[in-house]
Amino acid sequence: MPKSLSTDILIIGAGLAGLSAAVELQKAGKQVLVVDKGRGLGGRLAGRRIGDATFDHGAQFMTARDERFKAVVAEWIRLGVAAEWYSSYPGGEDCHPRYRGVPTMTAIAKHLAQDIDVMRTVRAVRLAQQGNHWHVELDTGDSVQAKALLITAPIPQTLDLLHSGAVPITEEMQTRLARITYESCIAVMAVLDQPSALAKPGAMAFSDGPIAWISDNQQKGVSAVPAVTIHGSGSFSAAHFDQDRHAVGQQLIDAAQPLLGANVVEFQVQGWRYSKPDVVDSARCIVLSDNTTLPPLALAGDAFAGPRFEGAVLSGWAAAAALEPLI
Ligand SMILES: Cc1cc2nc3c(=O)[nH]c(=O)nc-3n(C[C@H](O)[C@H](O)[C@H](O)COP(=O)(O)OP(=O)(O)OC[C@H]3O[C@@H](n4cnc5c(N)ncnc54)[C@H](O)[C@@H]3O)c2cc1C
Repeated sequence: MPKSLSTDILIIGAGLAGLSAAVELQKAGKQVLVVDKGRGLGGRLAGRRIGDATFDHGAQFMTARDERFKAVVAEWIRLGVAAEWYSSYPGGEDCHPRYRGVPTMTAIAKHLAQDIDVMRTVRAVRLAQQGNHWHVELDTGDSVQAKALLITAPIPQTLDLLHSGAVPITEEMQTRLARITYESCIAVMAVLDQPSALAKPGAMAFSDGPIAWISDNQQKGVSAVPAVTIHGSGSFSAAHFDQDRHAVGQQLIDAAQPLLGANVVEFQVQGWRYSKPDVVDSARCIVLSDNTTLPPLALAGDAFAGPRFEGAVLSGWAAAAALEPLI
């Protein structure tokens, strides 16, 4: 029997933007429900296990520039869900400290979600305005009535959702949103037969060639056994995105082999179609319902306040602050 749920605010997406907004809105006394089509929490903060090996295979680290965000990172460190990983490459200039989740990046999403009502493996499929509410159909057959709606999916998926409900958007807004584009990323998770030869801190970024990034999950403290994550570059990933994943993964392993100093015993491949925005919007979030008769509706995510972990959190906070007085 399909259920009809109701809430003050429905948030689509349990990534950093959605969960950060949820925490703020709940703190302000609002009733919040989050739905996510994924199995895990965190969206592009993603972990995986292969046997005894553990991988961070989405976001690898966070940096902190905003003062409020720096204070939150300090609190996560105090609580043991984050730690500094490194602040400079060997022989390189000192740079912003890179922080990681403990034990994995997803620990931060789990921490944010601890008091939030999150429905996982549930996809929002259609939106409709019903008077002064949103009516959102889920792929489970259930539906949610919400006074306000926050969508944090990557923008192309957000546009599909808005079109599903024939939500009126001005041509100017449609053009503005369609300008936001993303790099794709093919990520390889490889188990090694011995520790990798990657120098401390076990991470290397590349500005050309097929590989953008390699990290050693064992040196990072994520994996009990030798295991590396290899990210294909934006151009390599785009060119090979629809090809046989195993063969493309093998190409990245072959390219990485001289650096690994170990043999790959097993690997898996994940394709991120929307990995990082390469064109972002200048606002921290967008309230689409402003100056319309729509119930409160906002968009947030890393497409707005910076194409990274910190940007997603700042955008979620901005959306929460914008929606709270409207509910
Ligand atoms: C391979 C990779 C490496 C990266 N490395 C770094 C890094 O080192 N440092 C850094 O700062 N950033 C990095 N990033 C970027 C960082 O991960 C993102 O900026 C950030 O996690 C985005 O958070 P978000 O909440 O905006 O979006 P997401 O995490 O994508 O969250 C959106 C959520 O919406 C859900 N969703 C979408 N549509 C629906 C629907 N219809 N119904 C229900 N749920 C839906 C999705 O399942 C997803 O969980 C990396 C990203 C990738 C993919």
